[in-house]
Amino acid sequence: MFEPSLPEEKLSAIENLSFGIVDKIFLFFEKSFWPDDCAGVQLVWKEGPEDKDVYESLSEGETWKKTWFKKITGFDTVARHPTALCGWITGREALYMESLQDSEIGAICVRLLRSFTGWSVPEVSKTLITRWGSDPHVRGSYTFISDGVNGVEAHKALASPLPPKDKCRGRKHLQVLFAGEATHVNFYTTTHGAYLTGVREAERLISYYAD
Ligand SMILES: Cc1cc2nc3c(=O)[nH]c(=O)nc-3n(C[C@H](O)[C@H](O)[C@H](O)COP(=O)(O)OP(=O)(O)OC[C@H]3O[C@@H](n4cnc5c(N)ncnc54)[C@H](O)[C@@H]3O)c2cc1C
Repeated sequence: MFEPSLPEEKLSAIENLSFGIVDKIFLFFEKSFWPDDCAGVQLVWKEGPEDKDVYESLSEGETWKKTWFKKITGFDTVARHPTALCGWITGREALYMESLQDSEIGAICVRLLRSFTGWSVPEVSKTLITRWGSDPHVRGSYTFISDGVNGVEAHKALASPLPPKDKCRGRKHLQVLFAGEATHVNFYTTTHGAYLTGVREAERLISYYAD
């Protein structure tokens, strides 16, 4: 989208850095059904329950969709919301989940909670589910480094301001600056990484105008 185009190094850094999906599934209940000292329920599977109807409607190579919910790692209690639980899901299963109705997702979560805990779990009264992967303005959650990619090189290339110092004269330097988690060599993926890159670029500007 840049005109003129970004330099080759920057383009290949964007190509090389992968962008993954993490979603949250908030479940609200009329009242809590877990013990006071319970911080959450983590799910460990031996074998997944099979839903025959769903399985038969899928083509070969898509069978993981029948057990997408096995990617839900667990449900945590939520600070300041005593009757809510927060489920976590990642990857292609998260993207698939995003295509489903909230009511279906909520019902499956209740089924999981019932079968894993044996507790008397009521139906959910409300759900709040993120859809970071399919949101056209977001398209994912945060970067990760795929096998075979030199992460340090990619993060550095993405972080470097434009135009490059050796290619400009005088006040034309620093026309475009880059911050955000994907531009931190060590703390990419994190909020503190994103914050530190903002500080880094602010300091870059301060020293530019102070010189
Ligand atoms: C479910 C989930 C759980 C997480 N948990 C943790 C955690 O426990 N700890 C942790 O450290 N990190 C966590 N993270 C990661 C953390 O949230 C991100 O690394 C961080 O928010 C990245 O900040 P950023 O400023 O780089 O980008 P963002 O916060 O994504 O900000 C980019 C902004 O740019 C805006 N934007 C996009 N396109 C345009 C455009 N064309 N024009 C104008 N604005 C635009 C977006 O709307 C957005 O506001 C989590 C992320 C997710 C999704």
